[in-house]
Amino acid sequence: MSVVRLGHLYPRQMNIYADRGNIAVLARRLEWRGLRLDVESLETGDAIAPGRFDMFYLGGGQDRDQEVVAEDLAAHKAEGLHRAAQEGAPILCVCGGYQLAGAGYTGQDGGRMPGIGLLDVDTVAGPTRLIGDIVIDAELDGERRRVVGFENHAGRTRLGPGARALGQVVAGHGNNGEDGGEGAISGRVIGTYLHGPLLPKNPWLADVVLGWALEHAGSAQPLAQLDDQLETAARERATERAGKRR
Ligand code: GLN
Repeated sequence: MSVVRLGHLYPRQMNIYADRGNIAVLARRLEWRGLRLDVESLETGDAIAPGRFDMFYLGGGQDRDQEVVAEDLAAHKAEGLHRAAQEGAPILCVCGGYQLAGAGYTGQDGGRMPGIGLLDVDTVAGPTRLIGDIVIDAELDGERRRVVGFENHAGRTRLGPGARALGQVVAGHGNNGEDGGEGAISGRVIGTYLHGPLLPKNPWLADVVLGWALEHAGSAQPLAQLDDQLETAARERATERAGKRR
């Protein structure tokens, strides 16, 4: 049986907006196909052993939690994550995690938290929070699909030339409320402000990332189609709601 080994970064500090829901979706979608997700928590002080993981997840956090992990990311995780990214292991970073995957995040108190430069983006907190349902047209592996979620962030993220936006905002704010972009992608590193959590309503996105992780795990087996009627209905409902709130 193929096993995907997931490194869950800082599940205690970076877990607002139901980040564990994303892990549950990854596990179930593999299980439904007779595959397995092994999850290992990576806490402060832990190092990342080369080749140990097929994918990583870094969730969202309050500014004060981000401060704690920013330092540890640079000291104990950055090298391992860069190596894993080069080897094609997907790294999914949500909200606060997305900010720390970039060059850095200047928080609301003006303090600068350094990021680890997995994505060519930089974030500075603005005077208001960007909150609400969000719908984007995302593009992955040359395929374009509608992706929905919820956003709640003070950070305004700007992309450098080394990253492209994960998608274009249909309804909501996105990276900075100005340029119409949402999230960032570089190779198989994905950053996004969408949570709520992200994956239950967006099975396509979950499967793209799982496909990459399986490839890293050496499995040539394509992912079998699942019945996603419920997930699709949830996504349609969220899209409708976001449209109304716009
Ligand atoms: N603290 C960050 C911000 O407000 C990230 C918030 C989050 O992860 N939801 O921009």
